[in-house]
Amino acid sequence: MVAGPTVGVLALQGDFREHLAVLAELGAKGVPVRRESELDQVHGLIIPGGESTVMDKLSRAFGLAEPLKRRIGDGLPVYGTCAGLIFLADTVLDAIEGQQTLGGLDVAVRRNAFGNQLDSFETDLDVDGFDGPPVHAAFIRAPVVEEVGERATAIAALDDGRVVAVRQGNLMGTSFHPEITGELRFHRAFLDAVAAA
Ligand code: GLN
Repeated sequence: MVAGPTVGVLALQGDFREHLAVLAELGAKGVPVRRESELDQVHGLIIPGGESTVMDKLSRAFGLAEPLKRRIGDGLPVYGTCAGLIFLADTVLDAIEGQQTLGGLDVAVRRNAFGNQLDSFETDLDVDGFDGPPVHAAFIRAPVVEEVGERATAIAALDDGRVVAVRQGNLMGTSFHPEITGELRFHRAFLDAVAAA
């Protein structure tokens, strides 16, 4: 058997198990990442949904934040869903006091952009570059991308034009959670990026 790339899933908090399950379903080797020695072994990284403020605090407490920033700066392919998108964004709007991000993705993201009324919802989205039916997307206290910087490209938006998925070279972020709706195309596209890197 040929050894394929190893994809890490940041496993400090959030729905990392669901991402590991999708990777397994696609036949990819996924491993949880909680420490620097584990990060060193991976060829790509998924940052799950959860709570960006907690991921920020834990990654700094565990000495992972600086190694993560270094790997991202060196071109590591990274895919962030929801809180993971927030954690990858250069700028966070409605952050809590002192909240930091890893950065790398040239976007400004607003946390909890749908407020209390529309806290969670599902909708269908067309995604640039995907064949087949629209993506069925689950939004859970989700962020939106309010500004797409020069280096990033929007690949999906809601009917009202608000951007909810972006790519930038080896980086990808979605406001929603393909890992919980059986949608495999984002992970497949990410695995292609990992293989090409
Ligand atoms: N609201 C969360 C945050 O700010 C994100 C929610 C999610 O990942 N589903 O990090």
